[in-house]
This record gives sequence, structure tokens and C-alpha cells, in this order.
Amino acid sequence: MVASEPALSVVVPMYNEESVLPLLVARLRGVLDALGEPYEVVAVDDGSTDRTSVALLAARRQWPQLRVLRLRRNSGHQPALLAGLMRARGQHVASIDADLQDPPETIVEMLRLAREKNLDIVYGVRADRRADSAFKRWTASVYYRLMRRIAGNDVPAHAGDFRLLSRAAVEALRELPERRPVLRLVVPWLGFPSGEVSYEREGRAAGRTKYPLSRMIALAADSVTSFSAAPLRVATWLGLAGVAICGVLVVLAVVAYFLGATVSGWPSLYVAILFLGAVQLLCLGLLGEYVARIYTAVQARPAYYVAEDTDAAASMVDSLK
Ligand code: UDP
Ligand code: MG
Repeated sequence: MVASEPALSVVVPMYNEESVLPLLVARLRGVLDALGEPYEVVAVDDGSTDRTSVALLAARRQWPQLRVLRLRRNSGHQPALLAGLMRARGQHVASIDADLQDPPETIVEMLRLAREKNLDIVYGVRADRRADSAFKRWTASVYYRLMRRIAGNDVPAHAGDFRLLSRAAVEALRELPERRPVLRLVVPWLGFPSGEVSYEREGRAAGRTKYPLSRMIALAADSVTSFSAAPLRVATWLGLAGVAICGVLVVLAVVAYFLGATVSGWPSLYVAILFLGAVQLLCLGLLGEYVARIYTAVQARPAYYVAEDTDAAASMVDSLK
């Protein structure tokens, strides 16, 4: 049985990670046992369709600190992570990917730093992304630059979801009414004292990425719209610019009329019409992005459902989410 309030919880969201699971269990357990403090590992099975769930329950028989949280359906990385955070009971709560791209040893370093300097949040910052593809590196660099612009410089560049939170920070997250927070932006926004630990991001230990391009785009769109209304103002600025340009053209047309230099310029006419049509569609689309999010927020469906929690006592203190 896990102690009721462990010093450390480690949340690991996983989706179809059966191939990496034995490696993860061995390495994570080695690190955490060596810590010499009570801990729990909250493995969140995000509706896997392979044998992840069975393998987790089997691993738990030899490793009582492993707690398995099975979600009813695949809800995505962020909701799975949130599910784990909401149920974790540790004094500190770390989150880490299952694929061993983030070294578990760094968690110990994070914990030491948090205690030494009395920090509520310690981010794992990727010192080097050599293991990632050039495309991933490029998109990540654009993403973090954009996010720092719109969500503020408190957002550490190249800090994903590998971090350590204090109990106070987890409680603050729990109180947020947002159902689908983009954690890597919302956590810095909470405004707790924070620090960083840098680490080398390794290649995936086994299995394939669960983040195809479509999910990367969805995360980026959620990130922008959850922290900035600036795209909505694009329409206003484009409209104003259009009016200014039209004003100049009217003056030119009047001058041309009096000079007798009127030409039948239908190409410029249809270009202008096409252009304006495109701008209108673009603005409608941007508007739609926000309306869609309002719609989702009003529906207020839970981001995830927990089908099973191997720690029954903990199920009693279910989250608000
Ligand atoms: N993940 C998840 N649910 C999903 C997709 C991914 O829980 O729907 C987990 C996955 O198992 C891994 C973590 O999120 O532990 C990060 O995913 P991945 O390593 O595939 O992303 P990448 O590192 O390629 O960006
Ligand atoms: Mg990965």
C-alpha cells in the first residue's frame, strides 16, 4: 500500500507504450528507490489499444508504488497529464513522458533544487535537441518564440511537460476553472517562484511518436487562442489598411478622370475582389477558432474520464475536473 501522502508523485501519461514500458519501469524504479523517500508513480493509461494496460497491472504486482490510472478513452497527452496531476498526492509532483526522452535521474535534481531554494516549480529545460528531427527542432523553436511573445517571458523556452510542481502549485492548478489548460503556458502563468534544470533530450527509447503533425498543430492553435486575442484583431487591422488603400485609390481615380486617362482595368478589379474575399474568409476563420473554443468551454465536457484507479482510497478525493 502506498503511504497516504508520499514525498513525491511521478505522473507518466502513456498511450500505446507497451514496447517502452519494461525499460521505463526498470529505470524509473531504480532512480526512485534510491531516493529513500516514500513515493508513488501515477501511470496514466490514456486509452491504449495495445497491451499497455495489462503490462502496467502486471508490473504493479512487483512494484506496489506503481499506481495505475486508466482513462476510459484516448483523451490526448495534455488531458492524460492533467488526470494524473489531479489525482497525485505527493508533496511534490513530477511529470515525465513515458518514452525516456526525459531522463528520470533529472527528477532527483529537480527535487533537490526545489527544496534547496524553496521553489514551487522546477522546469526541465532541453539543453540540446540533437535527438529530435530537424523539423521538430524548427517547429519547436518557432512555437516557443511565439509563446513567449504572447504568454509572456515567464514561459521558459524549450521546457515541455517535464517539470516538478509543489503541492501548492498543484492545488492552484486544481482550482483553475479551465477544463483543457495548455499546461506549459498555464503553469508559468500561475506566478510561483520557479527554477530550471537543464538536461539532454534523448531519442525515444522504443516505440513511435504519438504526436503527429495534426496534433502539433492542434496544440499550437490551443496555445495561441488560450492566451491571446490578437488574431481576432487582425481583421480590424486588415480592414483599416484596406480602407486607407481604397482612399488613396479613389483620389487617384478622380485625378485620372480629370486627366482623361481612365482605363478599363478589369484585371485589377477582379484581383481586388479576390483579395478582399480571401481576407474576409481568413478573418471569419480566425473568428471561428475562438467561437469553437467558446462552444467547447460552454459544453464543459470533462477532458477525461477515469475508468480505473488502482488506489481506491484516492478515488474518493476525486478532482473537480
Ligand atoms: N501520450 C498520451 N496520449 C496521447 C499521445 C501521447 O498519453 O494521446 C503520451 C505518450 O505516451 C508519451 C507522451 O505523451 O508518454 C509524449 O508523447 P510522444 O513521446 O509520442 O511525443 P513526442 O516526444 O514525439 O513529442
Ligand atoms: Mg517523446
